[in-house]
Amino acid sequence: MECQSFNRAVVSRAALAHNYRAVKEKTRGDIPVMAMVKADGYGHGMEEAAKVFSSTGCEKFGVAELREGVLLRKTGTAGEIFVTLGFDHDEADLLFKYDLTPVIYDIGSARCLEQQALACGKLVDVHIKIDSGMSRLGLFPGELPGFAEAVSQLKNIRIAGLMSHFPESDDPGAASTLRGFAAFNSVCRELKNRYGAICHIANSGAVLNFPDTHCDMVRAGISLYGYHPGGVRNCPEGTILKPAMSFTTRVLQVKTVPPGQGISYGHTYVTEKATKVAVLPVGYEDGYRRTLSNTGRVLIHGEFAPVIGRVCMNMCMVDVSSIAGAGQGDEVVILGRQGDKIITADDLAEQIDTISYEVLCNVGSSNRRIYID
Ligand SMILES: *Cc1c(COP(=O)(O)O)cnc(C)c1O
Repeated sequence: MECQSFNRAVVSRAALAHNYRAVKEKTRGDIPVMAMVKADGYGHGMEEAAKVFSSTGCEKFGVAELREGVLLRKTGTAGEIFVTLGFDHDEADLLFKYDLTPVIYDIGSARCLEQQALACGKLVDVHIKIDSGMSRLGLFPGELPGFAEAVSQLKNIRIAGLMSHFPESDDPGAASTLRGFAAFNSVCRELKNRYGAICHIANSGAVLNFPDTHCDMVRAGISLYGYHPGGVRNCPEGTILKPAMSFTTRVLQVKTVPPGQGISYGHTYVTEKATKVAVLPVGYEDGYRRTLSNTGRVLIHGEFAPVIGRVCMNMCMVDVSSIAGAGQGDEVVILGRQGDKIITADDLAEQIDTISYEVLCNVGSSNRRIYID
């Protein structure tokens, strides 16, 4: 048997399936949901997450890079796979070999696809990326008509979609969402019918907050993993979702440290009284960021225990003075529920000034994942 770690990132398939259904329910009409499974499924495992979404009815998947699309197809995912960041022209043949749908934003890529398509006698569907206010990847709305016209002149290539992205849809009050949508929509109105293309712009924030922007497809990421993009506190709608990942470990040792004793590197914490300390095999290598030094807290016996001193590479210490029975081998919850208390990725994110997305990616990709039903 393979040697196990003390640390377990546990992913609930039932929660992933629940979230897919919840997002589908929130999405207008019967339009498809593209499940974003980039970044190894936001740390939940791309292959496993895609399997769950697929068996719950999902037929569209989104990844960032070509190599992720190839891997997703090779591991047996059916349906349409979108490669959203474009591709290296030297590797364009892989799009055809693995039947992947490229997102394009430059004419060089379109010409490259035409060459490949002619060479292998196939047709290729492309989706064009528009920048309607994110100021990230894509063509400005004004550039679209000319670009689309140029692409439509190429052989064996079909403009199947027009897409954009929202910078602030997690905030129901942000004006940029409707402004960006108006810009996107005017281009879509003009070109949609001419090319028979679909339009899509809504991410999780827009799925939950802006139903009028759902168009012909939505692209959901964080919501499928159980979190609202702006944090649950900012949006009651987020409570329909179930966090799918938890992270647990075990207590290595419990000891009582005398008063006036410094704890961990730098002695940034000094005990005021005799303190019962539990040593945990979790550190920044395991996705438990060093910024959680003297700030984080964990659950032991259903009670919160604060992190004291610096988080090390593979260990950290917590104060269990008020947890009577705490001892060696006890289960520790770093992320997730224990008894009636919970630590969410939003809680951890708030403590280290980031978002749930980053917490999930870090924890998920740094630890052995275990799947439960
Ligand atoms: C990651 C991603 C999404 C999903 O965003 P969430 O906020 O996680 O829902 C949607 N569209 C594109 C192009 C993305 O890269």
